[in-house]
Amino acid sequence: MKNKELLNELLIFDAHCDTANVIFDESSYFIKENNCHLNSEKIKKGGLKAQIFALYVNPIYSPNKSIKKALLLYNSLDKKYFSKGLGVKVTSTKDMKSTISKGKLACWLSLEGGHIIENSIEILEFFYLLGFRSMTLTHTKNTDWADSSGDKPRWDGLNKLGKEIILKMNEIGMIIDISHASDKTVKDVLEISKMPIMASHSSSRALCDITRNISDDLIIEIAERKGFIGVNFFPGFLKKEINQQVLKNMKKYNDWYQEKIKGQNDPDILNSIEMEYYSKIVEGNDNVDLNALIDHIIHISEVGGIDCVGLGSDFDGIPSTPTDLTDVSCYPTLVNGLFDRGFRKEEIRKIMGLNLFNFFKRFEK
Ligand SMILES: [Zn+2]
Repeated sequence: MKNKELLNELLIFDAHCDTANVIFDESSYFIKENNCHLNSEKIKKGGLKAQIFALYVNPIYSPNKSIKKALLLYNSLDKKYFSKGLGVKVTSTKDMKSTISKGKLACWLSLEGGHIIENSIEILEFFYLLGFRSMTLTHTKNTDWADSSGDKPRWDGLNKLGKEIILKMNEIGMIIDISHASDKTVKDVLEISKMPIMASHSSSRALCDITRNISDDLIIEIAERKGFIGVNFFPGFLKKEINQQVLKNMKKYNDWYQEKIKGQNDPDILNSIEMEYYSKIVEGNDNVDLNALIDHIIHISEVGGIDCVGLGSDFDGIPSTPTDLTDVSCYPTLVNGLFDRGFRKEEIRKIMGLNLFNFFKRFEK
């Protein structure tokens, strides 16, 4: 480690992980040598201080099983994680600071997928009451009110309900997360939102040209409005050739997948088949190291400025990682990498978590 002192004082704060889903599904999560990306030992080793836990609900639970799934995820996280003192749920930067000062992981909650609220503004308010402080507008499918980057345009961005939801999110202080949303949805959000917005786990489209990544135009607009962009660690979002390899694998395993889902309509079973499929399609994705990630950090900081960029690992949601950034214990390696690429201490502080912390502060009166 080049600068042990810096590492000890760094506020490492990541904007997106899917660990809640791993905790829900895997009894092995609590075994010491488990292979998840985020557990107590790895957190300690890597110096992670705060984390946004996304509760991901596969769109296949739509139209009317999403709320239940989200509540079951919440219940499992509460029972198996918070109640055991492994992390502390926080809802303000004040809570966050006091939790960290006690040596505990500060855990923010977010909803991944606007379909979870089942088109109800009251349910959105209810999740806020439960302690959720952000929501992605879509996942890979359009919702009934917003278009996704992974689907064919249906509403040309946001429809009337979508705009009402955005204004309600502003009003109650629920952060708008545009990762997964289509460009037009993001443009509509930028037009009406009175608050800054974030892309919790999106990489740069200029470096890896896929719709799931974020364009320079949008980086500039988000940064100008004091927003935040967390770079996603998934190799398939960092390098175009890896993305093409993933697409090739998808074709290769398509028959296997179709055969498996044939006749199935239980969303829990379909969801687990999809996870298995994702673990197959990253075959051969081991040709990326953390410099590919740092390229994206450099690009976003050049386009939007050093105050808008940070970490959006997507740990425990991505089926492959850069070879030297395999879980949260590798954050010191990332810090070294940032030094090697010419970032100064103050800039590294911002990238590793201070920018995200400052972003959250903008939502407090
Ligand atoms: Zn995601």
